[in-house]
Amino acid sequence: MFKLPRKVIDFLPKSLPTRKVPSHSRRFFYTIDEFPSNAALVPGVFTTFTLSKVTPVNSTSSIFRFALPPTHCLGLNVSSCIVAKLPDQLSGGTFIARPYTPISDEKTLGYFELLIKRYPNGPLSEYFHGLLPGEMVEFQGPFPKFSYKPNEFSKLGMIAGGTGITPMYQLLRKIFQNSEDKTQVSLIFANKREEDILLREEILFMCQEKSSQFKVHFAISENSLGEKTRIDKRTLEEYMPSPALGDARIFICGPPEMVAYIAGEETKISKEVGGLLKSLGYSGDSVYRL
Ligand SMILES: Cc1cc2nc3c(=O)[nH]c(=O)nc-3n(C[C@H](O)[C@H](O)[C@H](O)COP(=O)(O)OP(=O)(O)OC[C@H]3O[C@@H](n4cnc5c(N)ncnc54)[C@H](O)[C@@H]3O)c2cc1C
Repeated sequence: MFKLPRKVIDFLPKSLPTRKVPSHSRRFFYTIDEFPSNAALVPGVFTTFTLSKVTPVNSTSSIFRFALPPTHCLGLNVSSCIVAKLPDQLSGGTFIARPYTPISDEKTLGYFELLIKRYPNGPLSEYFHGLLPGEMVEFQGPFPKFSYKPNEFSKLGMIAGGTGITPMYQLLRKIFQNSEDKTQVSLIFANKREEDILLREEILFMCQEKSSQFKVHFAISENSLGEKTRIDKRTLEEYMPSPALGDARIFICGPPEMVAYIAGEETKISKEVGGLLKSLGYSGDSVYRL
């Protein structure tokens, strides 16, 4: 996954260490002007944050709130994620880290929130779900995925599976907070069962508020008899912007098997597309894996 330096700095919620952003990080991630001066993240190094609250949202997922000093934001721009690391004592010395996209607004001061689903035997998600308020977790970031500019595309299609909704939610909020941004957005959100749908109220609220700009299709893959269906070409044709539109873009994030089936296996050539999207005529340039 990510190759990251192992240096860890201590983070005390009320007194930040002197922030010295390594020059290599500034070059790769942000210009100095873009990176907020009150950011709590220090690019290029792990920073420790204290868990302040856990709010269960369904039987498998909870919102984890981490404390920041009251005057500090996390330091993300859209779209980007952070990486959480399993403590060395739990990982047997192996470096284990996973990316997460905060669901709290980038500008929020004093805390940030992650929505995390528990996977049985998943090292990082099990670790989060075993934490109690007051315990600390090491994070590094931000890791930019895509630099969003308002009105750059006339239409955006989003395909999310399960927790793959979090990067889409970050982007949706950014688009709809800006009344000057007229981008048309359609989202296919795939889940096994209706009760698995995360951020459902928030998404439906956006739909109501932006009814002329935003359309959602909830794709449920398992019926009450346990029979399974997958997103098919017809669903993609119906809800995603046509590949014939030169400036339309598709964003996808979800379980690796779902992403491979719809957009093809991830290869070293970042702009390659496969799966259903390729057979429908989408080019690599128009598909982004968030
Ligand atoms: C850019 C990005 C942002 C992410 N943001 C979040 C988030 O906000 N909240 C969250 O709970 N998870 C998020 N994930 C998934 C997360 O990084 C871990 O994969 C997940 O917590 C499982 O890790 P694990 O170590 O517990 O288990 P692992 O053994 O590593 O994986 C267990 C299962 O997780 C599922 N999984 C892996 N990647 C994804 C993914 N992208 N979307 C959905 N399911 C996946 C697979 O079905 C896999 O079998 C994100 C992934 C990416 C790439």
